[in-house]
Amino acid sequence: MSSIVNILWSGGWDSTYMLIQQLQKGKIVQPVYIVFNKRLINDLELKAMDTIRNNLLKINKFKDKILPIKFINERDIPDNQEITNSRNYLYEKYGLGIQYSTIAKYALMDKGIMLGLEKTPTKGAGITQAIRNDAKLVLDEDGVLVIDTNNSDKYINDLFGNIKFPILDITEVEMKEKLLEWNLLYIMDDVWFCYTPIDGKPCGVCHPCEQKISCGMGYLMSDEALNRYQIKKMINDKNINI
Ligand SMILES: [Zn+2]
Repeated sequence: MSSIVNILWSGGWDSTYMLIQQLQKGKIVQPVYIVFNKRLINDLELKAMDTIRNNLLKINKFKDKILPIKFINERDIPDNQEITNSRNYLYEKYGLGIQYSTIAKYALMDKGIMLGLEKTPTKGAGITQAIRNDAKLVLDEDGVLVIDTNNSDKYINDLFGNIKFPILDITEVEMKEKLLEWNLLYIMDDVWFCYTPIDGKPCGVCHPCEQKISCGMGYLMSDEALNRYQIKKMINDKNINI
């Protein structure tokens, strides 16, 4: 039962909640940020993480509890053909994102790394569907959900067998309630999630923005972003009816 936990942090809502949840449990947190080759380092994500980390370190009980962010370049993660093959299989079946192949390869070197995958009220992304349908989960000694590798298939074990899922049993709306209870909701004012910001603010129409709104987290958006969301939805609904 180590007191240091390694977490994948992006400065978004879910991974930031996971970081706070682990701090609340008395853990020392080592944030890890994977720099993906095809994507430039996102300045807004970095700025968000910096602000959030500084704000948390100002809280007395969290002082010294968040280590400096460890940056890992995707190029430095050794390849693994079995993981690639298993990801390709899960891509065919669920549309599993390519980034999970990279994360799984990294997790071979950093076993037990935590991933901020949340419980969704909707069908969810490919990873959620893959885990929901094909994985058996158990609690580890710290009460964190992990894959029961003895009872899950090889594809799931290859991709997720070395990863922990501390927030897979909580929705974003429930996270908000917890943060209110802890008096820490203000920390989330600085989270970042939008792929295509407009004037430095979330757009309301990219995939992460849409997911936030459809999961009851519209309060994170400006009125302009919510309007864009409604207009896009109206257009899409109309197309389906034609
Ligand atoms: Zn957006």
